[in-house]
Amino acid sequence: MIPFICKYCGKDTSEVDYDYLNGFDHLSCALEAENKSNEFDHCILCGVETVYKRSTHIDMRIGYVEGAGQLCPKCYHFDTISVTKDENPIPLDSHRQLFTVSEYMVLSTPNDQELGAKVRQLYWENKK
Ligand SMILES: [Zn+2]
Ligand SMILES: [Zn+2]
Repeated sequence: MIPFICKYCGKDTSEVDYDYLNGFDHLSCALEAENKSNEFDHCILCGVETVYKRSTHIDMRIGYVEGAGQLCPKCYHFDTISVTKDENPIPLDSHRQLFTVSEYMVLSTPNDQELGAKVRQLYWENKK
């Protein structure tokens, strides 16, 4: 015998009229589940509704912080906020912030480690 069980609420649906069923599930339960996945994610910082639905894959989103959640564009662009608890938090928009390293610096510093140190120093000088 096939179990008439609604997979959403777990209730027996063998007595329920076909019109109210979606397979073995309550039509109402199925619709509710669908509505939930169509709900928009809210910003984890300010709580505002974002443009992304819960069902939207995180690879398709901008401003999604893994392990934390979705950010709205405003919070995402807010460069002093960090979701890490590190002592030196990485600003969320740091991947969009650029600074210039001269070709001369690269060419005149054959040692990669030395070059790395120079680049880092340049970064902090830019921050001043
Ligand atoms: Zn149900
Ligand atoms: Zn926000």
